[in-house]
Amino acid sequence: MKILSVNCGSSSLKFKMYEMPEEKVLISGLFERIGEKGSEYTIKIDDLKYSKEVDLKNHKVAFEILVEELKKNAIIKNLSEIKGVGHRIVQGGDYFDKTVVATDDVVAKIDELATLAPLHNKAAITGINAAKEVIPKAVETVVFDTAFHQTIEPVNFLYAVPYEWYTDYKVRKYGAHGTSHKYIASRLNAILGRTNTKLITCHIGSGASVSAIRDGICIDTSMGLTPNAGLIMGTRCGDIDTSVVTYMMRKKNISADDMDTILNKQSGLLGISGVSNDSRDIEEGISKGNERCVLAQKMYVQKIIDYIAMYYFELGGVDAIAFSAGVGENSIRTRIDIMEGLKVLGIVPDYEANNVRGEEKLITTSDSKVPVYIVPTDEEIMIARDTYNLCN
Ligand code: ADP
Repeated sequence: MKILSVNCGSSSLKFKMYEMPEEKVLISGLFERIGEKGSEYTIKIDDLKYSKEVDLKNHKVAFEILVEELKKNAIIKNLSEIKGVGHRIVQGGDYFDKTVVATDDVVAKIDELATLAPLHNKAAITGINAAKEVIPKAVETVVFDTAFHQTIEPVNFLYAVPYEWYTDYKVRKYGAHGTSHKYIASRLNAILGRTNTKLITCHIGSGASVSAIRDGICIDTSMGLTPNAGLIMGTRCGDIDTSVVTYMMRKKNISADDMDTILNKQSGLLGISGVSNDSRDIEEGISKGNERCVLAQKMYVQKIIDYIAMYYFELGGVDAIAFSAGVGENSIRTRIDIMEGLKVLGIVPDYEANNVRGEEKLITTSDSKVPVYIVPTDEEIMIARDTYNLCN
């Protein structure tokens, strides 16, 4: 059965098509700058990769070209072979604790929740509607980044603000990256050979979060009402004293919208270093002796250590820790900095084993009290699996 896994941004469409249940990747690709000048797309089939510049007026045009490419490359003969299309949705609020079919009612709820993730949810709806037009016979599903975190108890998801903010405005922690944390946890359980485990999963990319997972169930996560909570990220500040916000709004006469932009797009690694939001540039800055890059890396790493330590206590110990996503999979230095900061837990880094990028691998020595792994994430396969199950 052919299943399409889709991730729509406001100007992008990323996709992967699988033969299920074999989980074989048939084709993948990315449409970029949709609705803008210089739009193009890239297609990848096994070792073959090509790009084309083409006018992508909207997401519907992108889906039409996608279908043409599927036919041209003999992935499908007829449209009816595509049985399911699964969409990634960032915010599902407390409505959704699992993947569901994208009915009108479901899409209306995703729209209602757009106030919590304006760019993402609106873009996803555009993608859902475009896919429905171009591939009308396929079962459309929606896979929520927040669903995995719905098992978190009130003690961990509530904020100590007036309770009515929760009952009347749904202010609480929802988390994000749930599909990724769930995948990483399932890989760790497969590696450990059991499911009664205590795990700490670190999804550290340009957005970053840590989750505490007991017996496959999420008990806490570092992102909050929105993704701007917890860790220091590429451009997001993560946890700060809320008074900083009101103090600076008054001092510099900053509007709520502008403050939102500053805290989400001009803070984090970029804000501290003044150089870049990208870990690679921060590492280059450090090698050139840039003091603010050194400071940015120290702060970034410290926050991850703090969360791992906190979740170690919440879980009452830990059986394995994993690093994933752009930084977690690729930054040899960041992983070492974090593991060295965790020596008090008896963690012993294996410096040689850690000298890799993007590979599932144990990176601690055999006498380390807690094993630490690199686990490359795979959100697309999770979307495909859920969609396949709903198609059945
Ligand atoms: P997202 O999916 O949230 O956009 P990714 O998980 O793809 O983010 O992570 C992107 C980030 O990964 C980049 O901004 C960069 O900081 C980091 N990254 C990628 N490759 C490397 C590398 N070789 N060394 C250090 N950091 C890297």
